[in-house]
Amino acid sequence: MNKIVVMKFGGTSVEDAAAITRTAAIVKGRRDKGFTPIVVVSAMAKVTDQLIAAAAAAGRGDRTGALAITARMRNRHLEAATALVSAAMIGELSKWIDTEFGSLDEVLRGLAAVGELTPRINDMIVSVGERLSSRMIAEAFRHAGLDSLHVDARSCIVTDTQHGKAVPQDTIIEARLKEYVLPHVAEGHIVVMGGFIGSTEKGVTTTLGRGGSDFTAALVGGNIDADTIEIWTDVNGIMTSDPRIVPEALRVKTISFEEASELAYFGAKVLHPATILPAVRKNIPVFVLNSRNPENEGTRIISLAPHCRSPFKSIAVKRRLTIIDVVASRMLMSHGYLKAIFDVFDRHKCAVDMVSTSEVSVSLTVDSNEKLPEIAADLSQLADVKYEGRKALICMVGENIRGQQGIAARVFQAIRHVNVRMISQGASEINMSFMIEEDDAEEAIRSLHAEFFSDPDPEIFDIEAARSVETLKESVR
Ligand code: ADP
Ligand code: ASP
Ligand code: MG
Repeated sequence: MNKIVVMKFGGTSVEDAAAITRTAAIVKGRRDKGFTPIVVVSAMAKVTDQLIAAAAAAGRGDRTGALAITARMRNRHLEAATALVSAAMIGELSKWIDTEFGSLDEVLRGLAAVGELTPRINDMIVSVGERLSSRMIAEAFRHAGLDSLHVDARSCIVTDTQHGKAVPQDTIIEARLKEYVLPHVAEGHIVVMGGFIGSTEKGVTTTLGRGGSDFTAALVGGNIDADTIEIWTDVNGIMTSDPRIVPEALRVKTISFEEASELAYFGAKVLHPATILPAVRKNIPVFVLNSRNPENEGTRIISLAPHCRSPFKSIAVKRRLTIIDVVASRMLMSHGYLKAIFDVFDRHKCAVDMVSTSEVSVSLTVDSNEKLPEIAADLSQLADVKYEGRKALICMVGENIRGQQGIAARVFQAIRHVNVRMISQGASEINMSFMIEEDDAEEAIRSLHAEFFSDPDPEIFDIEAARSVETLKESVR
C-alpha cells in the first residue's frame, strides 16, 4: 500500500472557492508523490463562530437574529459550491445544502420557541459547519480530478458524552477507521472527512472542543498508523511567537513533540493541545504548513529536537485567565488540605493551569468560566477566597533551559516594567511561565522576543525569511 499522509486543512485554508481550489492542488501534489492522502477539513473560516452565535441567539429567543446568520451562511456555501463543482453536479449538491440549512433553521426555530440551549443541541448546531464543508470539499476535489470520497466523521470518531469537549474513545475509533476508512484508502481513494465532530456510541453528535480539527487529524493518523500528519494553516509553521503580536517572528524549522504540546497547551493557537498525543504515541512526524505558501517547508515536529543554541524556541500566551487566591488562616500544609482544594476544581470539571503555594496561601489560575462563583463558594468553605480576571499567562518554551544559568534573570530584566503575579518553572523543565495583566501581554511578548530571538540559531530558525524582509525594508527606505 502507498504511504498514508493525513492532511488537515483549517478554516482559512477552505474559506472560499479559491482557497478550496488551492487545497485541491496541494492534495494532488501529495498524491503525485505517491502518497494516499486522507483529508480532514475544518468548517469554512468563521462558520463555527457564526453557528455558536446563531445557537446563542435562538437560545435567548431571538429567532430573527439566528435565522439572519444562517441565511448569510447558506448563501456563502451555495456560492462556493457553484464555483467549485460541475454544472452536472451542482443541482444535487445545492439541493443537499438547502436541505441541511432547512433542518438547521428548523432546530433554531424550535430552540427560539423553547428558549433553552442545551450542550447537546449546541453540538448538533455547531457540527453543521464541518458536515457542510467536508461534503462540499469532497465534491470539489472530484471535480478537480481527485478520486475523492466523503466519509461522515461521526461514523468513526466515537466519543464520550461530554458535549462541547467530548473525549475520543481510542479503541472504538481504531476499529471504526478500519471498517469505514481503511478499505477506501487501500483502493487508492482520497477520503475526505470533517474535523472537530464526533458522536457517542449511541450516535448522538458531539464536538471535540474549539480548534479540534487538529485533534481529529491526529486521531485518524495515530489510529491508522499514518506515515505523516500535516496541519495546513495560514502561517508558515510554528513561529517564535504569534506573528499577529510579533510581526518579525521567525519560523521554527524543527521542534520536539514535548515543546510543541507545551506551546499548544499554553495558548499557541496554531495547534490544538491534544493534537500531539496520538502522534507521539506512534512516533509519527507532524508538519505544520502554510496552504497559502505550500512551497515553504514549514515546521517539523519530531520526538527529539536537535540541539539549539538559544534557550527558547517560542513564546506563547494564554489570555482570559483568572487568578484564584485561597488564603488559609490556619496551617495550610496540613494533611489533606491541598487535596480538598483540588477536589473542588475536580467537582466542577475545571482545569487548573498553574499553581503556586506558600505557607498560608495557594494561588491557582483557571480559564475564566461561568462556574467561577460556584467554585469560589465551595472554596470559601475551606478558606478565604479572592479571584481576579483579565490575566494572561506567558509561556516560554525550549528544551535548552534545562540547567542553563542566568535565563530567569534575562527574562525578568526584559519585562522589568511589568507587574508579575505568579511564576512557575520546573514542572516540565522546558517551560518558564508567568502570569501578568492581560493589558501588558503584547508589550511583554515583544520585549521578550527582542531579548531572546535577536541572534537566532540558523539550524533551528528560518533566518533567511527574516533577512529577505529586512532587505525589502531597506529597499523601501
Ligand atoms: P486554522 O484555522 O488553520 O486551524 P488557527 O487560526 O487555529 O488556524 O491557527 C493559526 C493561527 O495561530 C495563526 O494565524 C497565528 O495567528 C496563530 N498563532 C499563535 N501562536 C502561534 C505560533 N507560535 N506560531 C504560529 N502561529 C501562531
Ligand atoms: N471549526 C472548529 C473551530 O473553529 C474546529 C477547527 O477549526 O479546528 O473551532
Ligand atoms: Mg486551529
